[in-house]
Amino acid sequence: MAHTSTKDIVPHTDIFPLTEGPMDFVEPPPAASAVSATAAAHIPRQDHSLDKSRQAMRLKRLRLVCLFAGLYLSILIVFHSQRLIGREVLAGIVVVVVVAMAGLYGIFFSGLNQKAREKSLTAPIALFALAILLWTDYVAPQSRMVFVPFLFLVVAYGMYRLPQQSMLLLTAAALAGDAAVIALHYLQQMDAGAFRSALLHWLVLALTLPGFVMLAGRVRRLHSALHKAGVTIRNIEEHARRDQLLGCYNRRYLIAVLEEQKRLSDETGVPLCLAVIDLDHFKSINDEVGHLAGDEVLRTFARIAQENVRQGDVFGRYGGEEFVLILPETPLLAALNTAERIRDQVERHGWQGGLKRPVTVSIGLTQYIPGESVLDLFSRTDTAMYLAKRGGRNQVVVEEPSIELWQAAETELSV
Ligand code: GH3
Ligand code: MG
Ligand code: MG
Repeated sequence: MAHTSTKDIVPHTDIFPLTEGPMDFVEPPPAASAVSATAAAHIPRQDHSLDKSRQAMRLKRLRLVCLFAGLYLSILIVFHSQRLIGREVLAGIVVVVVVAMAGLYGIFFSGLNQKAREKSLTAPIALFALAILLWTDYVAPQSRMVFVPFLFLVVAYGMYRLPQQSMLLLTAAALAGDAAVIALHYLQQMDAGAFRSALLHWLVLALTLPGFVMLAGRVRRLHSALHKAGVTIRNIEEHARRDQLLGCYNRRYLIAVLEEQKRLSDETGVPLCLAVIDLDHFKSINDEVGHLAGDEVLRTFARIAQENVRQGDVFGRYGGEEFVLILPETPLLAALNTAERIRDQVERHGWQGGLKRPVTVSIGLTQYIPGESVLDLFSRTDTAMYLAKRGGRNQVVVEEPSIELWQAAETELSV
């Protein structure tokens, strides 16, 4: 097997320009996080992706509004075809609804909604829908049967986002608006029979709608409890993957990822690389500056490493001052580039805190041979790291598997 130290062969420039950003950490949410400042340093990045996914969810909900609006207009068109709604009235409603939907899409796409306290704009949307329902009820009394089911839809839409008090206010507004429409119709037509019938409708609505809102409140509480439980479980899972001191991934997670990447590499044939990184003379650093300052050195190193890996690479602490970097779907040369960049950045970092000696790392790097065990892969990488130590430290040593090993692996896989 050939071992190559990169100190001589890799210039301090990127051989392969890295298009992706640093590792895309899915950090635990701040509230549940007991991990170190390292993790905290990544929280803004996580917040950003969280914001994006939340906005995507809001857009999804807006699509639902659009669907209901389309359904509502379709029903009104059917009423028009039966001459129960006049053409001008229908045209007016269609224009208002379509313009409102376009406006809403504009607001959500531009991100303007994010400036609001309730970013889904549930209350304005529900109020607007209610206004449209009441307006249609007023200008096209023959379409009254459409009003009630769609009013229930509006209330159901609001129930996940709006507090119970707002829901009751929405209900009160709906009942008051409906009563006003009934009164206006009576004043215009003076039709006592139609008035009595409308009042009976109103009474039924007034008796059932609050009950629906109460039930909806229960469903919302259940929904919110489930959501909280989901978040807690995700936090616990995330916590179990993290190194308590440094916030980076821990040994257990690294092993799980390595097993999974090995399986993927076996299945698809994509290259997989592994690096073992060990801080040089760390015992002396501890002796010089103390254990707590030593911890800080480890934290800073973990941060530097995370900032210099690519999205998709998985970095973590294997134990003590020994770290592992898994580089999925990465050929050896590209992996060498990343490893060398980490080594270089650690060496160049402006270390403070009374350190007498420079902080450096020795890195062993190798590529997975299809079919070999995780243990063998790790052992070969570890050997390379020890060769880097023996070679004078502060260097990357690549363990290139011999051609016989590759041939043996290929034969084994083809059997
Ligand atoms: P080498 O260059 O050969 O790797 O020398 P080294 O001194 O780094 O290696 P050695 O294995 O002799 O010492 C590792 C030291 O790392 C000893 C241990 O006290 C220290 N260490 C391990 N984990 C931690 C930690 O979490 N915090 C601190 N401050 N020190 C740690
Ligand atoms: Mg060491
Ligand atoms: Mg060590």
